[in-house]
Amino acid sequence: MSVRTKLASKKEFRCAECGKGIVRPIAVGGRQANYRTLTLPVPAALEIPTCGNCGTEWINDSVARKLDTALEKEFRSRMRELVTVSLARLSELSISKASVERVLGLSQGYLSHLTTTGDKTPSEALASDLALLAQDPQRIRTIETLWKKLSGSKPDPAGVLGWLSTAA
Ligand SMILES: [Zn+2]
Repeated sequence: MSVRTKLASKKEFRCAECGKGIVRPIAVGGRQANYRTLTLPVPAALEIPTCGNCGTEWINDSVARKLDTALEKEFRSRMRELVTVSLARLSELSISKASVERVLGLSQGYLSHLTTTGDKTPSEALASDLALLAQDPQRIRTIETLWKKLSGSKPDPAGVLGWLSTAA
């Protein structure tokens, strides 16, 4: 707690990692950070307290919040782009958003909402599903068959998998 307070209140301090360098807020391009499943560029304008000697980044709470906001925004835009191009591809093949929503069990209008409004981040699960469907639209039939095989009085999940592997 005391360390954090110190980091947050002082602009420059000696690096506790190497004991030699001075840590100063630095804004520079070419930095990257992992965010969920992606490695994303850190905005060049974002100041991160960085040791001039060893390069250790000292990310305090306020920097972490800014970094998180920037990365979330970039992550959302990339996931949304994948969703958009996948749906465009499917649309070229006359497969509507509505039929994709139906087969994936999504509520009606969900995919339109996802690609047009700014407040939702598509999950990796959904974005990758749509990309897989766009790569091989036959998979829509596969999924429909899968739901059929799971329906009725004697559902057979193992049989579904067996059927899938013989079909592949
Ligand atoms: Zn250092």
